[in-house]
Amino acid sequence: LYSNSFATTRPKYPATRLALHHFDVAYGSQLGPLWPSVRVALLCEKKYGALINNFSHHDAMAELQLQGCKDFISDTARGGEEVSQSDLQTTSDASVHSNIKCLVFPEETSYLPLLSRPDSDGLLGYYLMDAASVLPCLALDVREGHTVLDLCAAPGGKALTIMQTYDLGFLCVNDSSVSRTMRLRRVLQSYVPKAQLSDAKVHISSFDGTMWGDVERDSFDRVLVDVPCTTDRHSVTEDDNNIFRKNRVGDRRRLPQLQTALLLAGILAARPGGEIVYSTCSLSQQQNQGVVEQAAHLALEQHGIHTQIVDLKPLTQKFSNTFHFAPGLSVGEMVVPHLAANFGPIYMCKLRRLT
Ligand code: SAM
Repeated sequence: LYSNSFATTRPKYPATRLALHHFDVAYGSQLGPLWPSVRVALLCEKKYGALINNFSHHDAMAELQLQGCKDFISDTARGGEEVSQSDLQTTSDASVHSNIKCLVFPEETSYLPLLSRPDSDGLLGYYLMDAASVLPCLALDVREGHTVLDLCAAPGGKALTIMQTYDLGFLCVNDSSVSRTMRLRRVLQSYVPKAQLSDAKVHISSFDGTMWGDVERDSFDRVLVDVPCTTDRHSVTEDDNNIFRKNRVGDRRRLPQLQTALLLAGILAARPGGEIVYSTCSLSQQQNQGVVEQAAHLALEQHGIHTQIVDLKPLTQKFSNTFHFAPGLSVGEMVVPHLAANFGPIYMCKLRRLT
């Protein structure tokens, strides 16, 4: 009797399989001949990067370098001997002004130790994340004294990355989920000294980001809009909290609308002349280019705000030894998973607010 009732309640198709089927249809036509290799990589073990915590006294960088890891940012920013003169000219506009360091193993088969040791103040030496997640933070190009808003910030990998840059003027980190905001707070407390988290420097909130315009407009130098999405890698590998579950169909269908509202709120929050980076961890054209075009259109139609897309090619060219970028995107740049560089997917697009 038990096994019968169990059999009737177990979903016929697990969410991971529904996700894969959905992606086969959508990405098969969107990515064409690239899709089979991206599909295999999505289903294989992903690679991590170790974001070095500059606030820790513990020299995690030296420790990881001894094991063969390399900082993909400074290695590329310095330019290797193998970089040709013409490569140097194309990338010279895209010098990476930051103190962000992210270590990866150059070999596909080596994995980073999952645990980072605390220093004498209890601060951890590195944060493990998809190394491609650092790219939207580099694209944001945060400078000393900037005011920055991270509209969808939990669990905090990108906020922590942004905090590794210069002395910021002010950082607002927000996430509508109260439980995830608590996790974000714990992450920041494990990596950043108390003095750097004072009310004068960092503000943590739990607003619905689509309503940010009611809180504050026209003010931030930089805004990161790292939206909820179909989290493609998670969706094909984990049944827990999977957005392809039958009972979450509505959530999934509403995603592009929510993403557009969040990006529009981000554009409104930036000051004229300020810059906004939109990012997802999905390959979906509808959630990526589609959302950017729609939000830029609404900003103009509803608010008279002109925006301009900033070309990120000079930045991505610098990192083409570490990541596989999708060729020929008309709007934004995208890291596609590849067996030899199993990072991503990460989509990013940068907008400058002109008026
Ligand atoms: N930026 C984060 C990081 O690097 O760790 C990851 C952000 S995750 C992709 C998207 C986040 O958006 C989730 O934490 C979710 O709770 C949050 N979110 C969903 N709807 C939101 C809304 N309306 N306003 C603000 N945050 C929202």
